[in-house]
Amino acid sequence: MIQCPGCGVKLPNRHLDPPDRANASGECIQLYPDLRCYPVAKQDPGFIHQHMVDTCAAQHGGGPTRPITESP
Ligand SMILES: [Zn+2]
Repeated sequence: MIQCPGCGVKLPNRHLDPPDRANASGECIQLYPDLRCYPVAKQDPGFIHQHMVDTCAAQHGGGPTRPITESP
């Protein structure tokens, strides 16, 4: 298992390189596309996509993460 340095989630270690622009494990950042697709699949106009992006960025703050970001 590998623990993401940003959000702390523990995932099976696939020995992926961490991203250059986010304080995250490679395994965690691989889940981001699925997370981005979730609100589209849900088709809920009340769900604001930017909230999901901001939450993910806040969870992975520090290290190489920029203070203002659009996605990790
Ligand atoms: Zn993470």
